[in-house]
Amino acid sequence: MKKTIVTIDGPAGAGKTTISKLLSQSLGCVYVDTGSLYRGVAYEIDRQKINWENDDVLAGFIDSLDLNFENKDKELVLVSSGKDITDLIRTPQISMLASATSAKPRIRAALLDIQKNIAAKQDAVFEGRDMGTVVFPDAEYKFFLFADLAIRAQRRYNEMDECSKDIDHIKSQMATRDDNDSQRKSAPLKAASDAIKIDSTFLTIDQVVDKMVGIMSKS
Ligand code: C5P
Repeated sequence: MKKTIVTIDGPAGAGKTTISKLLSQSLGCVYVDTGSLYRGVAYEIDRQKINWENDDVLAGFIDSLDLNFENKDKELVLVSSGKDITDLIRTPQISMLASATSAKPRIRAALLDIQKNIAAKQDAVFEGRDMGTVVFPDAEYKFFLFADLAIRAQRRYNEMDECSKDIDHIKSQMATRDDNDSQRKSAPLKAASDAIKIDSTFLTIDQVVDKMVGIMSKS
């Protein structure tokens, strides 16, 4: 039977993660954070000091990559060569490296099957940049979530607990990632033509989730 797939795309800090998790809980299905796959690749590139801009080196690296999601306590954790790396991929450095390396078509192609295999087995909410446009163009429900840069940076600032955090730096890194992600040739960040766009600038998390659930229950 065809599975129900919900896609939520949008830039960093628009609220995708929290909203996708809540939505998946209210639908009783799995939540898939596809950004963590790109972060996992960046983590391994950084750890193994891979010269990823060299195509031959990159091809060899991808062949040796053993990255996948595993179920743990009803959540998906990211496992690389048997090691749970879920908590190691959330640094600002990995964010920037993931944004740069995810422009490589070879990397995107290598991660496609992982995403499609999950969707073949179960209903799911997928969060990312190209879910509604490239990976699941036939998804039943597609949302594109966005917000003003200043608000997104402020949200990220509030989430961080380091005392060295700097709002201007967060904002400029987010703007760089927005540019990288939306300007790249391969699967750029953009709303699918049939996606429902939601501006979360002045909405709370619950308001966005209610809006999505309302839209889904009407169709
Ligand atoms: O969503 P998150 O911020 O964790 O994603 C990290 C990076 O991974 C993004 O900046 C983007 O470059 C890349 N990404 C992507 N396609 C996706 C999800 C994430 O290119 N579907």
